[in-house]
Amino acid sequence: MNRLFLDFASTTPVHPEVISVIESALKNLPGNPSSIHDDGRKARFAVEDARERVASLLGKQPSEIVFTASATESINTVLKSWFFHHLPAKSTYYSSPAEHHATLLTLEYLESKGAEFHQIQPDRSGIVHPFLPEKGSLVSLMAVNNELGSILPSETIQSVLDSGASLHIDAVQALGKIDLSTFMDADYLSFSGHKFYGPRGVGLLVVKSGSDLEPLLHGGAQERNRRSGTEPTALILGFAKALELAMKSQEATFSQASKFNNYLRNNLKSIVPEVQFNSPDDGSPFILNFTLSSDPKEQIDSEAVIMGLDAKGISVSSGSACSSGSWEPSHVLKAIGKSDYEAQTTLRVSFGHGITETDLDRFTETLDGILKKMKLALTLL
Ligand code: PLP
Repeated sequence: MNRLFLDFASTTPVHPEVISVIESALKNLPGNPSSIHDDGRKARFAVEDARERVASLLGKQPSEIVFTASATESINTVLKSWFFHHLPAKSTYYSSPAEHHATLLTLEYLESKGAEFHQIQPDRSGIVHPFLPEKGSLVSLMAVNNELGSILPSETIQSVLDSGASLHIDAVQALGKIDLSTFMDADYLSFSGHKFYGPRGVGLLVVKSGSDLEPLLHGGAQERNRRSGTEPTALILGFAKALELAMKSQEATFSQASKFNNYLRNNLKSIVPEVQFNSPDDGSPFILNFTLSSDPKEQIDSEAVIMGLDAKGISVSSGSACSSGSWEPSHVLKAIGKSDYEAQTTLRVSFGHGITETDLDRFTETLDGILKKMKLALTLL
């Protein structure tokens, strides 16, 4: 039986047209973009052409575009750069406990080195409401929460910009999926190629003109001395192609994801009437996070459910993560007030290319069968 991939928020398969672009660049552009000979100049031209196309799609200047190896690198660069820039005085940060670990663990690390780190509590849907950060501080928030799909409200963005703080947006789960316009006034934006059918190994950092950026990587002074290291020509071209394709089909994929999100919500209500949807109704439709049970006596364990689904060829994510060999409840679910048991019975389904309603029926029927077996096993104990 065909595998059914419903985990598009974790990564996406590379689009066939992107693979062609990458293959062709690997074959035909062997030069180092910093070399002055013909091979080098051709590679440089291709990289700068990709930069211009990416900038134009995002409504930015090419000089504001910095290619990195991942969103994790982009995020680390912004947060650590801020710290270095403000040494020896203290740097102050604001974020939320529901952020991606690339942000949270970096800020905890910087706190251990003397930075001030304030955590703004999100509501039960993971939404951060307007607040007043200290002038001169750096605020780092996600545009779309990767576990819940909740969207950062424009009022919160405005409250940060009005306060005189600088703003970094982790827009990884937003690019090519939802309208980005409310986020684009941020001082810094981080993106990742592999979340919109581009390749893994390439990320993007957008640095607004006039915003400071200390490089994290020193060396050959590439990317206007903001990120040293020989540019991966093929991956950068793949990123630009994937972005063009994602932007072109954004409206259609958004309405398709909205349809699937509603369809699956109804399916789930029919097999688990007490299901709790942790994703807000007005969040990104590409992510549906739900808790199957809040009663520990039911002894449902999402790891066992995920393994059962996997054995039937279905890939989804759970509300816990493996950390140092043991399963920990997701920090995002804890941040929105879920108990350890609820986190343990939570699943995240994320939608993408090629999904049909029949696939969602297959998921629902398989899940129903697994839950029924678990219930039966409990009665036999
Ligand atoms: N931020 C968010 C919201 C994400 O979903 C992810 C990836 O899961 C990252 C950051 C890290 O991206 P990358 O895999 O490119 O380092």
